[in-house]
Amino acid sequence: MALLKEKVTHIHHWTDKTFSFKTTRNPGFRFKNGEFAMIGLEIEGKPLLRAYSVVSPNHEDHLEFLSIKVPNGPLTSKLQHIKENDEIVVNSKPTGTLVCDYLLPGRNLFLFSTGTGLAPFMSIVRDPETYEKFEKIILTHTVRKVNELAYKDLLDNLNSDDVYREVTKGQFIYFNTVTRETWEREGRITDWITNKKLWSKVNVPEFNPSHDRVMICGSESMTFDLKKIFEDMGSSEGSTKIQGGFVIEKAFAEKS
Ligand SMILES: Cc1cc2nc3c(=O)[nH]c(=O)nc-3n(C[C@H](O)[C@H](O)[C@H](O)COP(=O)(O)OP(=O)(O)OC[C@H]3O[C@@H](n4cnc5c(N)ncnc54)[C@H](O)[C@@H]3O)c2cc1C
Repeated sequence: MALLKEKVTHIHHWTDKTFSFKTTRNPGFRFKNGEFAMIGLEIEGKPLLRAYSVVSPNHEDHLEFLSIKVPNGPLTSKLQHIKENDEIVVNSKPTGTLVCDYLLPGRNLFLFSTGTGLAPFMSIVRDPETYEKFEKIILTHTVRKVNELAYKDLLDNLNSDDVYREVTKGQFIYFNTVTRETWEREGRITDWITNKKLWSKVNVPEFNPSHDRVMICGSESMTFDLKKIFEDMGSSEGSTKIQGGFVIEKAFAEKS
């Protein structure tokens, strides 16, 4: 396992529960948009690594990650204190199932995320190939509180962004919901899907398993519920070995 050392160049604390950071990128570190890598810190000469989705698209010359702050978490209790010029370690072999190639060709692409499950989709929605493969890209992000909507400004303005408007060509749709505060769009995304309000709210035809494709990244209960919903609608799960109507990744492993 080759471990690359990268220098932290920028840190942003979104809330007391999440932060993101940018690092240098070894030109030899290659990944598909949507993949995750094992990253971490070297502590007393030993690497302490955890899986992290890459937020930055693979055409950028830096890396970016979005991180939870777990109280007493072995890695994140330390990682949340990183400063510019500190070093992190990155395993050079990224992997993962949230890759457009693992989906059957289709019309619209739905990306459903909760919490830090947004991370892999940040690279996918800035990848020109995504827009060549699909007509509309609909990204949903659900969090408990409004201030947990990381990257909201960037996503709200992606279609008019100086760089990305040429990439998205107006095909990108961002839809957030909040579960524990008053907000324009409240509630769990599963409810928005099952009561069919999502399709009209984002102004796309109702989900059709023959045409539409899905990626899911969130907590265990969210991924479980959405898998069932899309299977019941007639879609089938894809993997790195066989293309499907939807692909899933848990945003983190639950405590056993
Ligand atoms: C495929 C995959 C991709 C991942 N991508 C990311 C990512 O992009 N960003 C990220 O912050 N984490 C991500 N994680 C989780 C990450 O690997 C670590 O679990 C997290 O950084 C906490 O590490 P820790 O050592 O502090 O605590 P750990 O001992 O790893 O976790 C302790 C507990 O904290 C909770 N927890 C862990 N991660 C999260 C989270 N992201 N959101 C909510 N609760 C959590 C769980 O209950 C877990 O059992 C991913 C996990 C997997 C399996």
